[in-house]
Amino acid sequence: MQAEILSIGTELLLGEIVDTNAQYISSRLRDIGVNVYRRITVGDNPERLLAAFEDSLGRADLVIATGGLGPTDDDVTAQCLAKALGRCLRFDQDAWDSIRQSYIRRGRTVDENNQAARKQAQVIDGGFFIPNPVGTAPGQGVKVDGKLVLLLPGPPSEMQAMFENHVVPLITKSFSGLTPIYCVNLNIAGLGESQVGEALADLLRSSNPTVAPYAGSGQVRLRIAAQSADKSRALAMISQVEREVRRRLGHHVYGKDDETLEMAIGKLLSTRGLSLAVAESVTGGLICHRITGVPGSSRYFKMGMVAYHPEVKIASLGIPPEVVYREQAVNPELASGMAESVRLLAGATLGLATTGFAGPDGGTESEPVGTVYIGLSHKKAGNMTERVVFSGSRHRIKLLAAQRALYLLYRFLTEDSKNRR
Ligand code: ATP
Repeated sequence: MQAEILSIGTELLLGEIVDTNAQYISSRLRDIGVNVYRRITVGDNPERLLAAFEDSLGRADLVIATGGLGPTDDDVTAQCLAKALGRCLRFDQDAWDSIRQSYIRRGRTVDENNQAARKQAQVIDGGFFIPNPVGTAPGQGVKVDGKLVLLLPGPPSEMQAMFENHVVPLITKSFSGLTPIYCVNLNIAGLGESQVGEALADLLRSSNPTVAPYAGSGQVRLRIAAQSADKSRALAMISQVEREVRRRLGHHVYGKDDETLEMAIGKLLSTRGLSLAVAESVTGGLICHRITGVPGSSRYFKMGMVAYHPEVKIASLGIPPEVVYREQAVNPELASGMAESVRLLAGATLGLATTGFAGPDGGTESEPVGTVYIGLSHKKAGNMTERVVFSGSRHRIKLLAAQRALYLLYRFLTEDSKNRR
C-alpha cells in the first residue's frame, strides 16, 4: 500500500509559505502504518494539476491533496481531479448544509444563490463530502478501483481537524492490515547528537523499535518507534528501550514528548520548595519567558530582570564598575555577580544570569562573538560560572545561551540533591 501527498498552491512554489501540511500528513500516515512514497508540490495551474493527479493515480493506492478548495476561480483542485477521473462534479446538498452551518457558527448567513459558496459544495460524482469541523470549505473523497483519493483544505488548522476527525478513520477502514507505529520522544540536553549517537550506537541499529536522534536548538530528541498490530506489545518494546536509554544517559534525559526543560526545572524547584531569580543580559528575557511559560511558575519564580546597559548592572545589581567596565566586558565575575545579586535582591534560593556577545559586531580576540558566561548562585553552594562559545546568527546565539543556562540550572538541581535545598 503506497501513498502520495499532493500539496497545491502557487505560494508554495514561490517559497512564500512552508509546506507544513505535507509534513503533518506524512508523520500521521507513518503513525497509522501507511508508507508515503512521494510528495509533490504543484501550483494552481489546471494542466499541471491534472497531470499530477493522473500520475499519482497511476502509482499510488492513496492520494491526499491539500489546498485549492476555496471559492475563487484559481481554486481548481476538485475540477482537476474530476477531469483526471473522467467524472463530473455535482451539487451535494449535505456539503451545502455543512457550509451553511459553518457560516452560522461564525454568526453569519450565506445566500442560497451565492455562486462562489455553492462552488465549494460541488462533489465529484460517486464521491462523498468530508465535513470541515473548523472552517468553511468541505473536503471530499472518492474511491476508484480500490484507490482512495482525498481532497483537504489548505489552511493547516482546518486540514488537521479534518484529518484527525474523518481521514484517519476513513483510511483505517478502507485499507486492512495496516500496522500502526507507536512512538515516544525523549528530550535530551547537555549532549550533542554525536555523543548521543556514540552512547546508543547499538540501539540506533535496531529495526523494531527504531531509535533515531534529531538535533536542534541546543538539544537532541530521541525518537523510539515500535510497529505492531498489538498496541501493548509495541508500548512494552518502547519502554524496554526507554529504560536502557535512561540508564545510559542519566539526567541528560530531562523529559518525554512535549515536556520542556523549563517544565522539568519547575517540577524540581517546586517539589523541593526552592525559588529562582534571573538576571539576563545577552539572552534579553528569553529565560524568563520560558520559565514563566510553565503554568504554576509563580510558586517558584520570584523575579527576572533584563540588565542590559552597563549602568544598570552597576545601579540595580550593585556590580562593581571595575567588573562592568573591564577590558573584557564579558567576564565570569560579571556573570556570577549578576546571579548572586539578583538572588539576594529577590530573596530566592537560586540566581541564574547570562552575559555575552551575541554579535554580529563586538567581541575581542580572546572573547569572540558567541562567547557567553552563565552564572549560577545558590545560597549554600555558592557561585559558579560556565563559559561557552556559540556560533551563528545573533538570534541563534541568544536561543542557545538561554537553553544552556536552563540546562546548567537543571544539572545543578539533579546532580546532587542533598545540597540543593
Ligand atoms: P481557502 O478556502 O482558505 O482558500 P483552500 O483549500 O483553497 O482554502 P488554499 O487557498 O490553497 O486553500 O490555501 C489557503 C491558505 O492555507 C494558504 O494561504 C496558506 O496560508 C495555507 N496553506 C495552503 N497549503 C498549505 C500547505 N501545504 N502547508 C501549509 N499551509 C498551507
